Amino acid sequence: MKRFACGDIIPGCSSVFTASDEDGIFAQAVPHGAARHGIDEVGPELAATVRAHIRDA
Ligand SMILES: [Zn+2]
Repeated sequence: MKRFACGDIIPGCSSVFTASDEDGIFAQAVPHGAARHGIDEVGPELAATVRAHIRDA
Protein backbone atom coordinates (compact mmCIF):
# COMPACT_ATOMS: atom_id res chain seq x y z
CA MET A 1 0.00 0.00 0.00
CA LYS A 2 1.00 3.57 -0.64
CA ARG A 3 0.27 6.53 1.57
CA PHE A 4 0.31 10.25 0.90
CA ALA A 5 -0.27 12.99 3.47
CA CYS A 6 -1.40 16.19 1.81
CA GLY A 7 -0.05 18.16 4.77
CA ASP A 8 3.48 17.14 3.78
CA ILE A 9 3.29 19.59 0.91
CA ILE A 10 0.41 21.84 1.97
CA PRO A 11 0.90 22.79 5.63
CA GLY A 12 -2.27 22.66 7.67
CA CYS A 13 -4.06 20.07 5.55
CA SER A 14 -4.86 16.92 7.50
CA SER A 15 -6.03 14.78 4.58
CA VAL A 16 -4.27 11.46 4.12
CA PHE A 17 -4.74 9.13 1.17
CA THR A 18 -3.93 5.46 0.87
CA ALA A 19 -4.08 3.28 -2.22
CA SER A 20 -2.48 0.17 -3.65
CA ASP A 21 -0.34 2.19 -6.07
CA GLU A 22 0.67 5.71 -7.04
CA ASP A 23 -2.11 6.00 -9.61
CA GLY A 24 -4.61 5.33 -6.86
CA ILE A 25 -3.09 8.10 -4.76
CA PHE A 26 -3.28 10.58 -7.64
CA ALA A 27 -6.87 9.55 -8.35
CA GLN A 28 -7.78 10.80 -4.87
CA ALA A 29 -5.31 13.63 -4.41
CA VAL A 30 -6.01 15.44 -7.68
CA PRO A 31 -9.73 16.03 -7.00
CA HIS A 32 -8.88 16.85 -3.39
CA GLY A 33 -6.38 19.50 -4.53
CA ALA A 34 -8.95 21.02 -6.85
CA ALA A 35 -11.74 21.03 -4.27
CA ARG A 36 -9.77 22.08 -1.19
CA HIS A 37 -6.76 23.96 -2.46
CA GLY A 38 -7.87 25.49 -5.76
CA ILE A 39 -5.29 23.53 -7.74
CA ASP A 40 -6.89 23.43 -11.17
CA GLU A 41 -4.06 21.65 -12.90
CA VAL A 42 -1.39 19.30 -11.60
CA GLY A 43 1.67 20.07 -13.70
CA PRO A 44 4.80 17.94 -13.96
CA GLU A 45 6.52 19.81 -11.13
CA LEU A 46 3.66 19.34 -8.67
CA ALA A 47 3.21 15.73 -9.74
CA ALA A 48 6.90 15.11 -9.01
CA THR A 49 6.56 16.77 -5.61
CA VAL A 50 3.57 14.61 -4.74
CA ARG A 51 5.34 11.48 -5.98
CA ALA A 52 8.36 12.32 -3.81
CA HIS A 53 6.12 12.36 -0.74
CA ILE A 54 4.29 9.09 -1.39
CA ARG A 55 5.42 6.56 1.21
CA ASP A 56 5.03 2.84 1.53
CA ALA A 57 2.25 2.12 3.99
ZN1 LIG B 1 -5.00 18.86 1.18
